[in-house]
Parts: sequence; structure tokens; C-alpha cells
Amino acid sequence: MMNKRTPLVLGNWKMNTLPEEGRLLARQMVPIIKDGLHRRVEWGLAVPLTHTGLLATELRGHALLGAQDCSMHERGAYTGEVSAAMLSASGCDFALVGHSERRQYHGETSIQAGLKIRRLQEQGMMAVYCVGESLEQRQSGDYATVLQTQLHEGLQGEGLSLDSSALVLAYEPVWAIGTGLTASPEQANEVHALIRDWLLRNRGPEAAAAVRILYGGSVNASNAADLLAGPDVDGALVGGASLQIRAFADIVLSAC
Ligand code: PEP
Repeated sequence: MMNKRTPLVLGNWKMNTLPEEGRLLARQMVPIIKDGLHRRVEWGLAVPLTHTGLLATELRGHALLGAQDCSMHERGAYTGEVSAAMLSASGCDFALVGHSERRQYHGETSIQAGLKIRRLQEQGMMAVYCVGESLEQRQSGDYATVLQTQLHEGLQGEGLSLDSSALVLAYEPVWAIGTGLTASPEQANEVHALIRDWLLRNRGPEAAAAVRILYGGSVNASNAADLLAGPDVDGALVGGASLQIRAFADIVLSAC
């Protein structure tokens, strides 16, 4: 049976492009995607903070604008940090949280990610919580436990919204990010089903039915359709290929 979740494809530009280059990329992507869509698919771009002003104008009415992180604090003496309220005021609809590069290079934990999810939801924004196992954890066969811990720690506590517009999960096996290695469609769907089962057992049937789970890790125009065909795969989080106009448009359109 087809699920009722609206497919979602998000690009993550990471620390690439200057603002004007980003504006031109978005300006060229929008009409190609708009003309190609024949059923409802949501899409968006997580851009560097310096780009949000320009990109808010380019994407308005077409796509979601996102940041790649946000502070776990509301405000105060946190030099270099940007709050969820600031992101919202800059036109952002969502932010990535707990991306593996934040975990790896900045020591971020799932507990901190959980606080960031709260801050974003307090602003009415969508949190895209990234989880995934390392190569070592996959090879040891431990990945289910790793993922369950990330889910427990990031999604704990009362009052978290599990509405489809407030929380999205992204399964991104660390060994597949930026490496050219991709999980097979079977591997991806197996983990997505595990995550949905976790939602069902820990947060109930409504949450399990509503929350979208994206796959991320070397998604490109050639493998997207197969990866997105899994019944528990609701879309993709795309790094490298989201900087290429035609490739990203094709990935979004393959979610139709
Ligand atoms: C990512 O950064 O979230 C990602 C999945 O990157 P890539 O598509 O380049 O593997």
C-alpha cells in the first residue's frame, strides 16, 4: 500500500559556493524542478548561513530553505553560534541537526542534537535529525543498537512534536557520506524499517505513520530512483549532487 507521506528531498550544500553562486544555482534549479513535478514532492536546500538572505528570495513559494545546524541555546554569550530564532527570522524553514560531520569534527552528541531539535520546534521550524552508523559499527553488526541509542538520546523527553512538518529523520550511514559508497536499496530500506519500528514501539502508530525518513549517503541521479523505491524511504538528503543543477533536479523528480 502506498504511504501518505509527502516525499521530501533536501540538498546539503555544506561549506560550498559563495552567496552569488548559490543564488544562481537555485535560480536555475527552481524552474527545472517546477516544470518536471507531476505530483506533490517537497524539496529544499540547506545552505551556508551567509546565503540565507539571497536564497530566501529565490526559493520562496517553491522550496524549503534550511540551515545546516543551529545552537542548542536560546540566546546569550555563545560566540559564533546562531539561534533557531535567528534562523527563523532569516527565512529558514528547517535545519539539519546531528549531521555526521558535526558529530565527527565538532564532537556533537545526540543529547545536544535533542536540545537543538527543541529549539527549532519552539520556533515552528522543522528539525531534520541525522542518524547513522560508522563503517566499524556496520561491520561489527551493531548498527541497530547504535541507531536506537541515537534515536533515544535525540528524541527523549516530553513535548517533542512528531508532526510531519516538525520532525524529519535522516538515515545517513557515515561510511556512505561523500565516499561514493552507497547503501544498497535493501540495506537502506532495512534500516528505515528499523527506525519506523522504533517510532512505533516508542512513540506510537501516529508518529510512525507521519514522520518521514530520508536516506542520505552518495545519492546521485543514477541511484536515486532505486533507493527511493523502498516503502520506508520517504526521500533523500543529498550532499555533493545537490550542487549540480541537473543531477539534483533529477533526484527531486525521481521522488515523484
Ligand atoms: C550529506 O552530507 O548529508 C550527504 C549525504 O553527502 P553526500 O551525498 O555527498 O554523500
